[in-house]
Amino acid sequence: MQDAERRELQGDHPAGARRKDADHRELWEVHPAGSVKWCPTVLEVIEVRAKKRTGSHSLVTALRTTLEGHYPDKSLALGGTFIIQKGKAKIHIMPREFSVCPLNTNDDVNNWLKHFEVSAPLICQSVLVSRDPGLDLRVEHTHCFSHHGEGGHYYIDTTPDSVEYLGYFVPAEFVYRIDRPKETHKVGRD
Ligand SMILES: [Zn+2]
Repeated sequence: MQDAERRELQGDHPAGARRKDADHRELWEVHPAGSVKWCPTVLEVIEVRAKKRTGSHSLVTALRTTLEGHYPDKSLALGGTFIIQKGKAKIHIMPREFSVCPLNTNDDVNNWLKHFEVSAPLICQSVLVSRDPGLDLRVEHTHCFSHHGEGGHYYIDTTPDSVEYLGYFVPAEFVYRIDRPKETHKVGRD
């Protein structure tokens, strides 16, 4: 983490200022208005680097199922950002208008969504829970964007031989379930 963080921070930054902490890590915090405040603490994150996919799982599903396998009695949640540095990915976006008729099956949902293959570099924001603790959660969800106008809901890369990922994740401390539906279903959760 330290090397990657240092490389990142030595690049051009809009605020143009930085400082080193006690471990010689350079830290900053940028506020919406553009002012800079120094971070007083060192942030602990999990760095994930992966390339050349050998299985059928996406990066997020692989992380989730690995956690579930190692800690079968626990619900562990991660949130974070990863970059698809090389390769392409399968995504969907929603149409501009909601469907005029009910979407009752996964096929209904997939026929309504618009599917594309998009190219790296893609910046992905992701949440995952290793195991639903009985709250009727969607156990993973990832959206991506880019600086070349492509983005959407990430499913998986489509270039397993050449894909490369770099990500940083933070474990969740709490889970809040808001507006849990009284009647539930599993449609559209992949
Ligand atoms: Zn989505």
